[in-house]
Amino acid sequence: MTTLYTPTREEFAELLTGEPRYRLDQVWSGLYTQLAAPADISNMPKALRERLAAELPTSLTQVVRKVSDDGDTVKYLWELHDGSRIETVLMVYPDRVTVCVSSQAGCAMACGFCATGQAGFTRHLTVGEIVEQVVVAARDARAMDRRLANVVFMGMGEPMANEAAVWGSVERLHGAIGLSARHITISTVGLIPGIRKLIERQLPVNLAVSLHAANDELRDELVPINKRYPLSALMEACSDYLAAKGRRLSFEWALIRGVNDRDSDARELAHLCRRFDLPAHVNLIPLNPTPGYPTVGSSKARVAEFHSLLVDLGVNATVRRNRGTDIDAACGQLAAGQPVTLRATRPQA
Ligand code: SAH
Repeated sequence: MTTLYTPTREEFAELLTGEPRYRLDQVWSGLYTQLAAPADISNMPKALRERLAAELPTSLTQVVRKVSDDGDTVKYLWELHDGSRIETVLMVYPDRVTVCVSSQAGCAMACGFCATGQAGFTRHLTVGEIVEQVVVAARDARAMDRRLANVVFMGMGEPMANEAAVWGSVERLHGAIGLSARHITISTVGLIPGIRKLIERQLPVNLAVSLHAANDELRDELVPINKRYPLSALMEACSDYLAAKGRRLSFEWALIRGVNDRDSDARELAHLCRRFDLPAHVNLIPLNPTPGYPTVGSSKARVAEFHSLLVDLGVNATVRRNRGTDIDAACGQLAAGQPVTLRATRPQA
């Protein structure tokens, strides 16, 4: 379905056939610089504004907008035209503003500890649906007198399973909104064909790989797609990405108590990085609770120990601040369609 943020600049040029040439710039900068709705692009004639609004509806209908207690995290739950639901998270830090966007409704990767993985796959998002999440967040950031500069594809879905639309949105964010590729991060479970595709793409975005385990046996369990794309092949693809782009590579590691937070896990991870000569940055995050997974996150003390062990082993690692837990907006907790009221009324299996 074509929505307001679907057309490329060229496609808009076609839509505006018969209009004076400068209209294209007015529409484009109205949408992407002013971040305005067509009705509010005031330098355009009313008839054209009405035509655009009628022909190009927006794609996100707000169901919930929750703000964290400290006011720095905003979670949006959106309904799409077909009734599927996705979430977006805006994070306002003292030094930067980041939006975490969804790339699919649901996810087919079935990682057991992730709420989206537990819910299963519904469908791919379109370029328009992805870009609109960023536009809305950028508009909200502006209302807070801040500028949105960072986009992470770490919301619902597996971006590399929807590479074409994700890439279409990356190009739009870069070309129209003016976001730097250095400030765009694509996170993947490790779909090697997707990583290879990114190597061919022009813009050098950051790559984040959700590793969580440094041996195939454990990773097969935590991230089932590892059975198809095992660690050694994945590390080679990462290494090729680094060589091609010179961009920051990071590994995500959700610390699960007693599962992947042992000293041996840290040693395996350090060994893996050394073996493939990967100067990766490891992002540690204690597992956030989700309804369908019994295991819990590592304690604060254990997270700190694991961190310092990695550092001692020569691995560049940081503990990620855990934002938005109070509004279920933390990593892995995005699971639209699971509102508390629904769960409370669902019959027991
Ligand atoms: N599918 C992509 C992007 C979405 S998830 C990917 O897997 O990379 C973004 C990150 O949140 C991933 O690193 C994912 O493993 C992590 N995550 C998922 N569930 C989590 C949970 N319950 N607690 C902490 N991190 C989680």
